[in-house]
Amino acid sequence: MFSKAWTLMRIRGIPIRLHISLALVLPFLAWSVSTNQLPQLLRSAHVPAEALTLPASLLGVLVALALFVGIALHELGHALVALRQGGHVKGITLMLLGGVAEIDHEGATPRQQAWMAFAGPLVSLLLGVGSLALSLVDGLLLDLRAALYIFGGMNLALAIFNLIPAYPLDGGRILRALLAARLQPMRATRISASVGRVLALCGVGFALMLPDPMLLLVSVFVFLGASADEAATTMRLGLAGLRARQAMARRVASVEPSRSLSSVARHMLFQGASAAIVRDAQSVRGVLGVRDVQRGPLRRADEVLEGEPVWVHADDDLSEVVGRIQKSKQSGAIVVDDMNTIVGVVTYEDLARAVALRGAADAPGVTPPAPTVPARQDARR
Ligand SMILES: [Zn+2]
Repeated sequence: MFSKAWTLMRIRGIPIRLHISLALVLPFLAWSVSTNQLPQLLRSAHVPAEALTLPASLLGVLVALALFVGIALHELGHALVALRQGGHVKGITLMLLGGVAEIDHEGATPRQQAWMAFAGPLVSLLLGVGSLALSLVDGLLLDLRAALYIFGGMNLALAIFNLIPAYPLDGGRILRALLAARLQPMRATRISASVGRVLALCGVGFALMLPDPMLLLVSVFVFLGASADEAATTMRLGLAGLRARQAMARRVASVEPSRSLSSVARHMLFQGASAAIVRDAQSVRGVLGVRDVQRGPLRRADEVLEGEPVWVHADDDLSEVVGRIQKSKQSGAIVVDDMNTIVGVVTYEDLARAVALRGAADAPGVTPPAPTVPARQDARR
């Protein structure tokens, strides 16, 4: 997910990765601490700058590094709770806007989701309160006390900021989990995403008034994140219980990797196909959907294809299939049967159609029958 990141270490098997954008944010943070927070703190405590043992710039670097350790601990809080609940953690990445823990825990109950979301801010809260308390101890070196005070304040701010109920921030995840305990998951997602978007717009307004570029960046990130996650969750929930064969396109063109996209499009039109499988004599390279073939008529099929093809079985649950496609770099999955014969392709367009049909089929007032798998399959390639 995050290319341009290298693994620093592993904690309980969880890789902690540093993203290249840290090279930008760490020096900025160190500079901001040594030229803003530290002088302000000394002034308010009526302590001359000369009383410090270390140069302010070095203290700034140390506090900036410590803050990212604090962010890693915050993410570890989420990750360790997820592990305890039986979830899977792919890794933690420290980057420009803080940290991201990639957690796979589809089966979490609302209660578990709420705990998982709360664990991160709780760690930040404890770090903040603990550091602020330590900074009040008289016997400690002044440099350490100043660093602890600034570090503690930043962690408190981090905890409070993350608890704002603006999805996809932690507070928004808690809100969604609390709603999901009472409402249908789809409705809970819609409401929390809407609250997230409204709060993000308020954030944009504040950021423009102040003006504060960092707040602007975070608000835009929250706004886009709320919408992207709402779309992904709606699709996943709308597809649960359906099988790959119920959404797959059976008419699929087969093209060589060297073909131009305009030629692939002609091929698809000629065969009445909604997708094309790119393959040569040795192997299958992947799937091109309608959107892929619009990416420049002269480009070659293998130029547009990225990553490995996604293989699914015709009886796989579509909510799983959509997750696998979203995690891949391809825009569709190749569907095989028990004999490992390719029987079709599932692209985003096919998934959207299945969600729409499901919505219409489950319209209120009608008892939705359990989704059934068609007994007989019709013609294949
Ligand atoms: Zn968090």
